[in-house]
Amino acid sequence: MSTETFSITVFRGDGIGVDVTNSAIEVLDAVQTDVGGFRLQYEYLHAGAGYFRETGKDIAPGAEAKAGSADAIYLGAIGLPGVRHEDGTEISPHLRLRDQFELYAGVRPVKAYPNTPRRLSDPRAAEIDLIVLRESTEGLFYSAAVHDRSVVIGDDEVRDILRITRPTTEKLHDFAFELARKRKAQGSGQGLVTCVDKANVFRSMAFFRKVFDERAAKFPDIERAYNYVDAQALDLIRQPWAFDVLVTENMFGDILSDLAGGLVGGMGMAACAEIGDHHGLFQPAHGSAPDIMGQDWANPLAAILSGALMLDYLGDNSGNNKLYEAARQIEHAVYHGFSTQRIRPMEFGGDMGTHAVTTELLDILRTSRQ
Ligand code: ATP
Repeated sequence: MSTETFSITVFRGDGIGVDVTNSAIEVLDAVQTDVGGFRLQYEYLHAGAGYFRETGKDIAPGAEAKAGSADAIYLGAIGLPGVRHEDGTEISPHLRLRDQFELYAGVRPVKAYPNTPRRLSDPRAAEIDLIVLRESTEGLFYSAAVHDRSVVIGDDEVRDILRITRPTTEKLHDFAFELARKRKAQGSGQGLVTCVDKANVFRSMAFFRKVFDERAAKFPDIERAYNYVDAQALDLIRQPWAFDVLVTENMFGDILSDLAGGLVGGMGMAACAEIGDHHGLFQPAHGSAPDIMGQDWANPLAAILSGALMLDYLGDNSGNNKLYEAARQIEHAVYHGFSTQRIRPMEFGGDMGTHAVTTELLDILRTSRQ
């Protein structure tokens, strides 16, 4: 069997980003050895607040270009308390990468695993399996990626701009419908895309919905629905099991994905893929969690499941089915670990820190092979 090699740029970043990235790489290495037919070749580069404190730069020289020519980018988490730019904003080279590589599709799966904390008592909470698809290059974060896009009028007023463009919005909605189609085919989704906006108030949001309707016409097999973002927040508490793919603006998606992540445990389960036409960046949706860093306490599963999303992306781009096989192995091992209670993260009141969860998952992968 021939072995296809994929280059991965890895930024471990700051705080727990370093530990959870190491866990994800260990798991990726285990599945690639087992499945075969592909090889991940990592290049580790510096970026983040720790690096900024040492060098005055938020990313290593030349790292953006290297990341741009890699098959995928993997990132831990970035940010440290007290390390800021002069204007008080956080060190955020990852926002620039999103912008520069046009990673418009922020894919945030929200899935209930057995024996993880349920915030809702309704038994249907066990069925939660949805995706928050967060547009990630424009919306209200348009000004955040590049500072001079904000309008600062002396010390009296600051305006951030919410930008919605047709090309990005068309691609985003197409991505949403295609994702719903893929999930339906895999048996994990209902074939439903909900457009989450505030079309009753903002012209930008009415435009977002108009483009949604235009693109929906190309996907007659997929059902469409609409929800205002405030009603969506309510519905994520009242009936999260009723949703499949939620497509939304950047800031709304930022907030709703944390809310939805909280329903199925916490940030330690929140995986994330940021995908553009030519690049993909994979990272846990959580930050560097300074409150728990250096304590071997963090749950590495968001990072590990983000690694599985990266394998799916590489599979989509290359047509190499071995990558899908490896991604499913990771997901099944996580599911099996929770259902048998072999995985008990401290985040959920269990007795396992970062290393213990990783070791157990590796053991599940090993034993499932025998
Ligand atoms: P950012 O703005 O970069 O998202 P933040 O400080 O707002 O960062 P997180 O770093 O995501 O947010 O942390 C939010 C909370 O979730 C913290 O209390 C943190 O301890 C917890 N948390 C985050 N990631 C994990 C994890 N992998 N395991 C356990 N707890 C986590």
